[in-house]
Order: sequence, then structure tokens, then C-alpha cells
Amino acid sequence: MMVGSRNASQACASCKYQRKKCDPHCPLAPFFPQHRRKDFMNVHKVFGVRNVLKLTKNLGFKEKSEAMKTMIYQADVRVKDPVGGCCRVISELQNRIKHLEAEYRLLLEQLAVCRVQKQAKAPHLYKQQQL
Ligand SMILES: [Zn+2]
Repeated sequence: MMVGSRNASQACASCKYQRKKCDPHCPLAPFFPQHRRKDFMNVHKVFGVRNVLKLTKNLGFKEKSEAMKTMIYQADVRVKDPVGGCCRVISELQNRIKHLEAEYRLLLEQLAVCRVQKQAKAPHLYKQQQL
């Protein structure tokens, strides 16, 4: 996640929403700069600010960044698809993988057929290779 640069006079999206002063130690400021208001609103709607702070309280910055990135993604998907959320995305990706695996197997079978046909048309080429 890209950490936004902070202007001292600008409150982060969280503090601005809560109408409080954003101090330099604000735990949400690195993840929700003012221009990421929509991300903050989604996370707030799905998880709640208090839960986000509680979940990430004891994490280092790198882990906290990953957790925030994950929550921002999950909240965005949940807001766009309130019923399916991430489960629908995962299900669609699993179906796509199954489809592509089936297509891959079919292509391997076609390739094997083509090789047999080619070998039948020019068997002398293949006898030389086997020597
Ligand atoms: Zn803040």
C-alpha cells in the first residue's frame, strides 16, 4: 500500500469524518489520507473504526499495512456486492480456474492427436529422431 503524504493542516479521512483533530500519531492517517475518503467510508461501514483499530493495534507497520490493504479490498467488494462479497469473487475465480484447466486438458489432447497424425504422415522423420 502506498502511504499518502500528509499535510499537517489536513486531517485524514477518518479524523475528518469523526470531526476530530488529526494528530501526528493518528493510527489511521497513513492508510486513509484525505483523498481516500471512499476507502475509509467502505471500511468504516463494513468493519467499523473501533474494530479496525482493535484488530491492528498490536501489529507492526508492515503487517498493519497488509491488514489495512486486505480490509480495504474486502470492504470495497462487500459494498459493491453486499450478498456475495469476497466469497463470490473467490467462487468466480475457482470456476475460472476449473474452466481453464479443462481447456488446458483439451488442448493437450488435441496436441497429442496432431502429433500422432503428423507422425503417421511422415514416419521417416520420427524414426531418425528415435535413433
Ligand atoms: Zn487522523
